[in-house]
Amino acid sequence: MRTETIAFESVRKETRLLNPLNDMAPRTIASEIRRDPLTGRSARICHFMKLSWPKPDFDRLVAGTAEHCPFCPQKVQRVTPCFPEDLLPEGRLTAGDMVLFPNLAPYDSISAVAVLGAEHYLPMTAITVERMAAGFRLALDFFRRLEEIGHPESVYHVVNWNYMPPSGSSIIHPHLQVFATSTAPNLMRQELAASAAYAQRTGGNYWDDLAACEEAEGRRYLGRLGRTHWLSAYAPMGVAGDVVAVVADTCRTLDLTAQDLADIAEGLRRVMAAYDRMGIYSFNMNFFTGRSGDDHTRFHLVFSPRTFFNQALATPDVGALRNLFNESLCMAYPEEINELLRAGFS
Ligand SMILES: [Zn+2]
Repeated sequence: MRTETIAFESVRKETRLLNPLNDMAPRTIASEIRRDPLTGRSARICHFMKLSWPKPDFDRLVAGTAEHCPFCPQKVQRVTPCFPEDLLPEGRLTAGDMVLFPNLAPYDSISAVAVLGAEHYLPMTAITVERMAAGFRLALDFFRRLEEIGHPESVYHVVNWNYMPPSGSSIIHPHLQVFATSTAPNLMRQELAASAAYAQRTGGNYWDDLAACEEAEGRRYLGRLGRTHWLSAYAPMGVAGDVVAVVADTCRTLDLTAQDLADIAEGLRRVMAAYDRMGIYSFNMNFFTGRSGDDHTRFHLVFSPRTFFNQALATPDVGALRNLFNESLCMAYPEEINELLRAGFS
């Protein structure tokens, strides 16, 4: 274990002000700026607040959205596109009540959507492990088909999940974004370059070292399911922290076995249950993958809870700081958030 090569750096700061809620008595407010040990990306831990959010009236939120939903069973086979024959002769991939088809608004030349079943609205805690694992299997089946025909975009195989409107989803019906690309997205590309540099510098694999280091240190570690390590990010992007799952002995999405997908789904279920107890009902989840042979990296995913800063106004939790500087803020210490999540892992 080369844990000495992973540096958890932070700068602590203090704000002094005169408090209007206490007769203008002096008050000191702490904050901390952390650096992601791999990329150096900074994240601010500030705005300390109780990790408890009011949930909206879901009946009202969902009411009327099924009528125009393109993913509901009566519509999905009629209004969603098909892949051309050279890509997928059957047009769409199906598994039980799940269906995968091209995204009408593609992010890349190979860009698909996987609808996670017939149910229009599934509360976060009602998404079963079996359903999640089957959805991921369907995405991997699609990726394998691209591999089989030697498609030039079959390089990085990505599954993204925007669940419910605070995460950026405009459709209530649960679905995954599934795409294959030769062009790695920004943060994934930066991580891959940084993990290659780390391997060259230390002779080790950053993700293996991180998992070992966090397991030994304990305050950000959640547990292990099969060969998947679950931990809280040291410098999270989400306002209520991020959870990272690192799968040992893998370097890309296509290295995941059916058991890995089941373990990933079980871990996600536990994480979702814990965030649900805080009042969080929305999240982003991205796969981070290397290419075939990228032994300097490990397949990992990031789960990032999302919320509205103001429910009534639908104020996003991403403002100028994050959108234009890519500087994130987290409203509690990740180690404290980890305590709230850990109960579900013990
Ligand atoms: Zn629907």
